[in-house]
Amino acid sequence: MLSILRSLVQEVNSARDLQEALDIIVSRVQKAMGTEVCSVYLLDPASNRYILMATEGLYKDSVGQVSLAYSEGLVGLVGSREEPINLEDAPSHPRYRYFPETGEERFRSFLGVPIIHHRRVLGVLVVQQRESSRCFDEGEEAFLVTVSAQLAGVIAHSEATGVISGLSLTGEEARDVSFGGVPGAPGVAIGTGVVVYPVADLDAVPEKPTEEIDQELELFRSAVDAVREDIERVANRLASQLRPEEQALFDVYLRMLSDEALPGEVVNRIQEGVWAQGALKQVVQQYVRHFEMMDDLYLQERAVDIRDLGRRLLSHLQEGEQKHLEYPERTVLVSEELTPAMLGEVPKGQLVGLVSVKGSSNSHVAILARAMGVPTVMGLVDIPVNQLDGRELVVDGFEGQIFASPSSDLRAFYQAICDEEDELVRGLEALRDKPCETTDGHRVSLLVNTGLMTDVVRSLSHGAEGIGLYRTEVPFMIKDRFPSEQEQREYYREQLEAFAPNPVTMRTLDIGGDKALTYFPIQEENPFLGWRGIRVTLDHPEIFLVQVRAMLKASEGLNNLQIMLPMISNISEVEESLHLVYRVYHEVREEGYDIHMPKVGVMVEVPAAVYQIRELAERVDFLSVGSNDLTQYLLAVDRNNPRVAQLYHSYHPAVLQALVRVAQDAHSVGKPVGICGELAGDPGGALLLMAMGYDSLSMNAASLPKVKSVIRSVDREWAIQLLEDVLLLDSPHVIKSCVDLALRNAGFGRYLRPARTSTAALAEQAVS
Ligand code: PEP
Ligand code: MG
Repeated sequence: MLSILRSLVQEVNSARDLQEALDIIVSRVQKAMGTEVCSVYLLDPASNRYILMATEGLYKDSVGQVSLAYSEGLVGLVGSREEPINLEDAPSHPRYRYFPETGEERFRSFLGVPIIHHRRVLGVLVVQQRESSRCFDEGEEAFLVTVSAQLAGVIAHSEATGVISGLSLTGEEARDVSFGGVPGAPGVAIGTGVVVYPVADLDAVPEKPTEEIDQELELFRSAVDAVREDIERVANRLASQLRPEEQALFDVYLRMLSDEALPGEVVNRIQEGVWAQGALKQVVQQYVRHFEMMDDLYLQERAVDIRDLGRRLLSHLQEGEQKHLEYPERTVLVSEELTPAMLGEVPKGQLVGLVSVKGSSNSHVAILARAMGVPTVMGLVDIPVNQLDGRELVVDGFEGQIFASPSSDLRAFYQAICDEEDELVRGLEALRDKPCETTDGHRVSLLVNTGLMTDVVRSLSHGAEGIGLYRTEVPFMIKDRFPSEQEQREYYREQLEAFAPNPVTMRTLDIGGDKALTYFPIQEENPFLGWRGIRVTLDHPEIFLVQVRAMLKASEGLNNLQIMLPMISNISEVEESLHLVYRVYHEVREEGYDIHMPKVGVMVEVPAAVYQIRELAERVDFLSVGSNDLTQYLLAVDRNNPRVAQLYHSYHPAVLQALVRVAQDAHSVGKPVGICGELAGDPGGALLLMAMGYDSLSMNAASLPKVKSVIRSVDREWAIQLLEDVLLLDSPHVIKSCVDLALRNAGFGRYLRPARTSTAALAEQAVS
């Protein structure tokens, strides 16, 4: 059974379009279950009707013709109940609905299972049988449920692909095609999609037609020649070390490269108008599928060779290509997984939006995007990345939604939002040099989180009072080896100088989790619970010591350095780190540098730290809550996983209770406490944190003016009352609504706008 499922999923996965995928499903399921009919009905979102999309056993002419209203017939019943329905005698069921054009009067037993993806019913998979005596048994029901669950994602994806290429289920031209993800960075952008994909990844090659057939043929032929030469060279080099039968493996490769084999088929497809990379991808996938389905294990293994050959050819085709990527004036970068380096490739001033399949609002690339003020949508798991290249896109970073090929109404609607945002930001510029204090005189320091030098420039122009979190891993991530002490010293000096005499809090290297260094890979089953942050650097004192030494030397003459330790879960980690910092301090002074001992603080990011605040605070100068990680660990929700993004809630009562406790316990031993997670940059979150007594709020530069303007307009007693009210509530959503309402009543509705549900609704209005 497992092997039937595996090959079915593989085949469906490599289908060229939705129709081919559905045809494969019905024909394979019908055969595997030995039944007379297998059909797929998909729910068309536009008409809210189930459309018969593919069948094996009913009259083929009825495909695309027969449709049922949302709750009509047995198909509608399966969809609305969201569970299988297994009937021995379907025609006698009160909900049975008969369509003469299908010829289904011949069939009596019926088994329908819903196709559900991320809680959304996509359609219904049905099998039918002539004799009522042949009722589908439990095993068959379980099989169909398994097939449907496995295929739901693939169907959702191919449906999206079909829709974006202009083929909606009903065949109408598709405009304003929307895809939902999670908000990554607020704001709205309208621009042109540029798909960036990892080099030599066949799966990531976009589908593109070409008119320059001769040029593509030429490119492909020279790639084949180059790969042939590579293989001959390797074979010659190894000739003396291999036995003849092992050497024969290279002959297999060379034979696959002969004109009659793989290249011949690629050439045919190019001649049909597909660009060389796309043609190669199609042929390789077809070969791989073919080999993987063979019963002979030896032949199954050949799929690996084909894939390898495909990658080699692709890397020759792509040589230099990424470097010559054209970035339009208003670029929306689209990728399976965006990386900080990809952002850096776009020429200055041309990047307006970001779209990523992987990751969520707390992924580091999203944090970077917020710092840069670039509207971003993350976790768009079902977007057909490959088809967004060159398309006009609207990125709605408030709602976590993108629209492809917007109509003029939708474009005008979003353009108005962009204009209003610009106006709001300009209006806030006047606050730059004003202190952040409530109407009754309670002061809070507003600091910024930085990583790149661009953050510093933006922060200064927004009136930040210092850096609450400098993520030192950012300069490490954009290099291909550990930066030297001297290089680090230069990076750190820039940050320290830009803000002197105000404090600059540098966090020691926080790698692991989702922050990988290409040159120091950490492979773990469970990286967020693994070797991360201080755990790595204490195990590698040579990295920690060099970093602290560079920080201390960089601070000479400025005296505004503070050092912060990430991911502390034990007192001993603090003590060991302090010991190393003291050691470096004395050594650097002995070398003749005129430096002061920096303040040292710890991050509260792990639930264990929440319960040891006093013990931690007694040992250090300050505490800073990393609410991004603290939320992830308290709620057991991976901050990067779009599947559970709805459960990641910084307004969760448990998170708020923990934050209250941290502030109280730190103050009870007389130590200042700040926060540098994203909650600090949320106007509502900032109000609650101020009410809890947090001394400083550190956030991305773009949020700072809004937060300042809100805090300057309220009195602290009002905020404390709001905090007390929400602490009595037990649902994160109700708490969020309550805070939003308070902000609206206080005249800050514009800062929330577009509110969680309103943009989508307004956008729909604009279109209808
Ligand atoms: C946090 O966890 O809240 C934090 C500020 O650190 P990072 O987001 O870099 O993990
Ligand atoms: Mg963290």
